[in-house]
Amino acid sequence: MERIVQQTDYDALSCRISAISKGYLPSPSLQIERCHYNGYREMHVEYLRALKNVSMKIHSKVYQVAKTSFPVMNYGTYLRTVSIDLALDEFLKLVGEDRKVQVVNLGCGSDLRMVPLLRNHSNLFYVDVDYESSISVKRKVLWESPMLREMLDLKREDATGEVSSERYKLLPCDLNRLDQTMRGLEALTGPDCPTVIISECLLCYMADRESQQLIDSVKGFYKSGSWISYDPIGGSAPGDRFGVIMQNNLKESRNLDMPTLMVYNSTEKYASRFHGADTTASDMWEVLTSQISNEESARLRSLQFLDEIEELKVMQKHYLLLVARW
Ligand code: SAM
Repeated sequence: MERIVQQTDYDALSCRISAISKGYLPSPSLQIERCHYNGYREMHVEYLRALKNVSMKIHSKVYQVAKTSFPVMNYGTYLRTVSIDLALDEFLKLVGEDRKVQVVNLGCGSDLRMVPLLRNHSNLFYVDVDYESSISVKRKVLWESPMLREMLDLKREDATGEVSSERYKLLPCDLNRLDQTMRGLEALTGPDCPTVIISECLLCYMADRESQQLIDSVKGFYKSGSWISYDPIGGSAPGDRFGVIMQNNLKESRNLDMPTLMVYNSTEKYASRFHGADTTASDMWEVLTSQISNEESARLRSLQFLDEIEELKVMQKHYLLLVARW
């Protein structure tokens, strides 16, 4: 099961590469102007180039999927990426530049957010967490690229092959194993520092008990922070079959489970997992219609012809962005 779940990262990376190649990402106004994510395209191209040297097999999988991505998928990737970036930026602005701040990306996969964030915020400490097998690939790819190595100021320990910098760590661990996870986080980060937790398509692959324990323990450890989570939600309206069909398709095609898709099937139920925190949860259709300006929407519409608006709406109504603060 670990291998099947771990491979979902290649889909996420393919989707990002596709959204970049079609011009959805980076968003000039939201990611470049507001968040200062300069060089976004270049760092992804470079990651893909280095990935080819590390594993031809993974590279060709990512490349093939990226080539066949539909406009609705590109919209989804755009919304998910930009909304997390904006929520992160808001928290970092709130903390300011004078205090140390930590970001912990749980189930980070091949996500490269840490590159612009570490460059733009000298007070930031960043930890990427994933299974050992994913971290091992990411570590090799980052080291393989002189550009990314330099941007992240990476050093490698010859004995272990571990790659890190003063402000960036890669933590291999199984997030289903709470003792291992908390030991790792406690060794690298401190409880008193404001901390952002990111879980982008992670909790949906975890069992109810394990994901709740993870949320409670991590949230309990950091005295103040924000949890930014993006996930699918099964849908709670009468007759809504989206979640059930999604679960069946994933099971049939990949033997992949989403154990809580129908448990936390609405924004309200999903938010209830973060009890004790101030939460805002919006489905991604709401994000598109309320947070994306007319100019930006017009830019998106100009990129590819999209006639499946109803399909886009149904799909995006079944994904959410949750921001919890405590
Ligand atoms: N967050 C990244 C993104 O959105 O691009 C990757 C998302 S991918 C769909 C899910 C990621 O969660 C994979 O990298 C997978 O290995 C990781 N993951 C899932 N369950 C995990 C667990 N129990 N422990 C560590 N990592 C896990």
